[in-house]
Amino acid sequence: MTNGTLYLPDTPDGIARAAQALRAGELVAFATETVYGLGADATNATAVAGIFAAKGRPRFNPLICHFSSASAAFAHGVADRRARILAEAFWPGPLTLVLPRHPGSPIASLAAAGLSSLAVRVPSHPIAQALLAAVDRPVAAPSANRSGRISPTRSEHVRAELDGRIAAVLQSGPSIVGLESTVLDLTGPARLLRPGAISRAAIESHIGPLSDDPGADGGGQILRGPGLLASHYAPTLPMRLDARSVAPHEALLGFGPALPAAALIYNLSERGDLLEAAAHLFDYLRRLDDEASRQALTAIAVSPIPDHDIGLAINDRLARAAAPR
Ligand code: AMP
Ligand code: MG
Repeated sequence: MTNGTLYLPDTPDGIARAAQALRAGELVAFATETVYGLGADATNATAVAGIFAAKGRPRFNPLICHFSSASAAFAHGVADRRARILAEAFWPGPLTLVLPRHPGSPIASLAAAGLSSLAVRVPSHPIAQALLAAVDRPVAAPSANRSGRISPTRSEHVRAELDGRIAAVLQSGPSIVGLESTVLDLTGPARLLRPGAISRAAIESHIGPLSDDPGADGGGQILRGPGLLASHYAPTLPMRLDARSVAPHEALLGFGPALPAAALIYNLSERGDLLEAAAHLFDYLRRLDDEASRQALTAIAVSPIPDHDIGLAINDRLARAAAPR
């Protein structure tokens, strides 16, 4: 996908070039105080799909969106009093807040894996700060490693993991904290989703005791393994996978240039491009579900999707959506 990865110095010129690449929809790894992140413009669904492709992730998980200030973060995630108190106390720093997503936010639904919540953070690393300010858009960034590998804390680690797979690495010194950010869910009673650099006690000293309820959305599962959230969006209509024909009562979620006829079709990628399909997946699933119901169609047929590269993550997501409930 990328011919050669550029290794940029963390000088004003290097930062400006990294920002330009991100704004152009390319992938750039950069240091934060926790670990090196693999960033993409969170408002560009294709760029976000590229993160999953570069990491070789077999499933979609919600990503943390990074901002240069609390006010920028709160333009996308709705802040209540607790969020403001914690932002005041810990931002910039290694605390991620999961907030209700602002309905007007242009962040791609793939960045939040189709959830109605959004994870936001303002990192304190000075180079990350400068980069995010220059990008002036939300930057989605998981750790900059191949799927299943250890999070990188040095630019040499990123080179070993992602050389040739991403546009650039903004090279800085080692990440200081070396531990992932604490993830706190504020969409209901405050709950710890992932322990990390900021302790539970430190958070409780500001907003009182956290809830130990795993939550109706299975948030507790995040501690056991990300990507297993029970609340992942599932369509209301039953789904039939690997469909090569379409029944009269079915709408079609298609893939590729030659589709069977159907009363309602959303094509994930007419040219059969898996990255484009991943970028469209969550939006099209939701829109198809709404429109099919309005047209009195009662099921969704889904074209076969090749089971390789990011197609693995698409099929994983479709299998969950099609699972009996
Ligand atoms: P990483 O990007 O590897 O640092 O991991 C991100 C963490 O934040 C994972 O544990 C995710 O499950 C969690 N996370 C991100 N977005 C959300 C969200 N919208 N709701 C709940 N958890 C989230
Ligand atoms: Mg990771």
